[in-house]
Amino acid sequence: MSQAPETAAEVAASAGEEPVTRPTATGESDESGVGSDQICVDLPDLKGMLPQELQELAIELGERAYRGRQLYSWIHERGVDELSAMTDLPASFRRQLASSSRVSRLVQTERRESAEGTAVKFVFHIPGAGHVEAVLISDGDRRTACLSSQVGCPLECQFCATGRMGFLRNLTAAQIVDQFLALCRYASARGERVTNVVMMGMGEPLLNYDNLVQALRIMRVETGPSIGGRRMTVSTAGYVPGIRRLAADDLNVGLAISLNATTDELRSQLMPINRKYPIAELLAAAEEFFSRRGRRVTYEYVLMAGVTDTDEDARRLADLTRDGVCKINLIPYNELAPVAEGGSPGSRFRRPSDERINQFREIVALRSPHTVTLRLSRGRDIDAACGQLYREVHRKRKDVTTD
Ligand code: SF4
Repeated sequence: MSQAPETAAEVAASAGEEPVTRPTATGESDESGVGSDQICVDLPDLKGMLPQELQELAIELGERAYRGRQLYSWIHERGVDELSAMTDLPASFRRQLASSSRVSRLVQTERRESAEGTAVKFVFHIPGAGHVEAVLISDGDRRTACLSSQVGCPLECQFCATGRMGFLRNLTAAQIVDQFLALCRYASARGERVTNVVMMGMGEPLLNYDNLVQALRIMRVETGPSIGGRRMTVSTAGYVPGIRRLAADDLNVGLAISLNATTDELRSQLMPINRKYPIAELLAAAEEFFSRRGRRVTYEYVLMAGVTDTDEDARRLADLTRDGVCKINLIPYNELAPVAEGGSPGSRFRRPSDERINQFREIVALRSPHTVTLRLSRGRDIDAACGQLYREVHRKRKDVTTD
């Protein structure tokens, strides 16, 4: 039996953290996901609906089911968000839709391409809540869309820029899908297509479970810019009830777990969620995921100089994960660009030297029966780590208003 889902605020609170909320444009605290775009949010968003749901809607409005399929095609295949432009739909149907629903589109406020051309980062405005980011990462033939699931994050991992923003709101399914569609449009204009999706952007995706799953289902619909479940990965900081729920779901997506420490003492310091779901529980949930879904889990491990990169850590990492069916991915810490000349609160963590990184990898690889990979950061020059571009953009705006 899976536990009842918790809210982002409950998880943060039970981990001993006060959930951080920010005022919305209306001046109200917005922890519930309702903000200044309330008027729009109240209307069903057609972009967040599956073809079947659009067909049912068409029938409800007195049309034939195929009108729903046409609607899906306009939004997801042709990238049209204006009902008035969907010219093969009856005018009466379009009028009914216009008065009872909406088709949202995220406003892109920033785009940066890395010098080496392997990463493009997009920043989108979320009305009443700030910004979210998505990154398109190129690696050979693979084009991976890294998407956000929340504005900010309640989990406050110490090494993460997004964690320091606090939690503002969950994204809707449509807002998750829209990041994907924007990246698909960009790739398509370059004669490419997005091949993979990873939920590794801002936020803890498993704390926004229903919207996450709905978005993943939409992205895998075969008639859209389809991504198969085997090419989708959900990354979690270790929200165990969410992992168990995902294991019981029929989505068949991959699972990546941000482990990042090999003792509960250190992990609880770095990732407060560990106080509620310690390492042993997390590993057990990962095993359950594998036994139910048949997909090996990837353990992500961020190497931070003097914090997580000792020989002892390397040996413990190999030992902890020995009995699982998994892969270990080592990620050298991506140092935050200073927010101001005075430095950044994240700057207390450092990337280890290349020599230390290689030594760490060798120890784990020699001791572990599993594949051990090293992920070299793409797009370091565009601040392509979680939350970093947002901070930079935000800083610039502040600079402008102060001048
Ligand atoms: S690392 Fe992920 S889970 Fe942790 S604070 Fe950042 S966005 Fe949230």
